[in-house]
Amino acid sequence: MLVILSSQVNSQGKEVQRLLAEVAKYPGVSAQVHEVKGAIQNLTEVYLIGKTDTVSSEAVESLPGVERVVRISEKYRLIGRHRGQVDAMGFVYNGIRFDQDSCHIFAGLCAVDSRESVAKMMQALKAAGLSTTRMGAYKPRTSPYDFQGHGAKCLPYVFELAGKNDVKVIAMEVLHENHLDEIRTALEQAGNPTGVMLQIGTRNAQNFELLKHVGSQNQFPVLFKRGMGITLEESLNACEYISSGGNRNIIFALRGVKTHLADPHRNFVDFIHVPVVKRLTRLPVCIDPSHSVGKKDGGTDGLSDIHHATAQGIIAGANMVLIDFHPDPQKALCDGPQALGLNELTHLIEDVKIVREAYERRLALKGAHLLSS
Ligand code: PEP
Ligand code: MN
Repeated sequence: MLVILSSQVNSQGKEVQRLLAEVAKYPGVSAQVHEVKGAIQNLTEVYLIGKTDTVSSEAVESLPGVERVVRISEKYRLIGRHRGQVDAMGFVYNGIRFDQDSCHIFAGLCAVDSRESVAKMMQALKAAGLSTTRMGAYKPRTSPYDFQGHGAKCLPYVFELAGKNDVKVIAMEVLHENHLDEIRTALEQAGNPTGVMLQIGTRNAQNFELLKHVGSQNQFPVLFKRGMGITLEESLNACEYISSGGNRNIIFALRGVKTHLADPHRNFVDFIHVPVVKRLTRLPVCIDPSHSVGKKDGGTDGLSDIHHATAQGIIAGANMVLIDFHPDPQKALCDGPQALGLNELTHLIEDVKIVREAYERRLALKGAHLLSS
């Protein structure tokens, strides 16, 4: 059961205390208070968990400060929209807002290979006006003989160079709970010059212990990548694991699904699931055209398949693009064939802007038609 309080109510206020006292009367029911950070105002929600069928909705709804009570379906209790009865949620991290209306480009290195590559990448981001990037320090590779990432060793220079170039958020995959400690320590030692969004890769989409671990902390938001060989429902349930640990600052990423029918692409592009995930859940949705398409082949129109896939995701309302770049793609130690060169960064940004504007115009057009009908 979800209790939505009116916008004037503070999460520490007396109305919440009164509600918690009421809930305490019901054996087997516990409450979790959560503050949803909106663009204009913050909202307080209280989740009632356990034997809630004994709780009277009317009694709770009549308490001071309560706006609405929603009986939630079993599916996606915390991240779900519950048939449109609850609003999307977003969050602000390191000064940047992420929600189902925002749109950010995380352009960066699939894998950190050298300080020089990081410096060049970060400088290019700054020159292009981007403050969000991706930097892989821990790499899950198919072969144990392939480059596994520099791990904790590269964190000091990655964070230092991010700070110098005003980069505010770095998406970084973690494979093990120790990696969170390494990131936390390196950030502290560098004086917290930047922020990190913990990426859960497709290969760990059902690593429930790791999901619970990233869900049990609130310092870092989580970018969850859908499992490449499991259903959408299974991936959304995996996000529910993160959320049920207490961390609601989650972004759901589409990165294609594995099937030989995707040939000649690396994975089958699944960006039509952008509106589906936005409607089923309250989470912002990211697209990763690099790992979906897997190579830079160009179309006869001069735009590569990666550009076309990006446009497909943006026109469908994606809130974030995770995309591989490298100063010298041919020399990249991981996924070079899908990396764009730094000379292609401003073009990509402008291309995304055009498509995003088209998406916003589509929304305005639909709004105008609804008004006149
Ligand atoms: C990545 O983004 O570097 C990555 C390994 O992606 P995925 O988990 O989607 O394969
Ligand atoms: Mn990669």
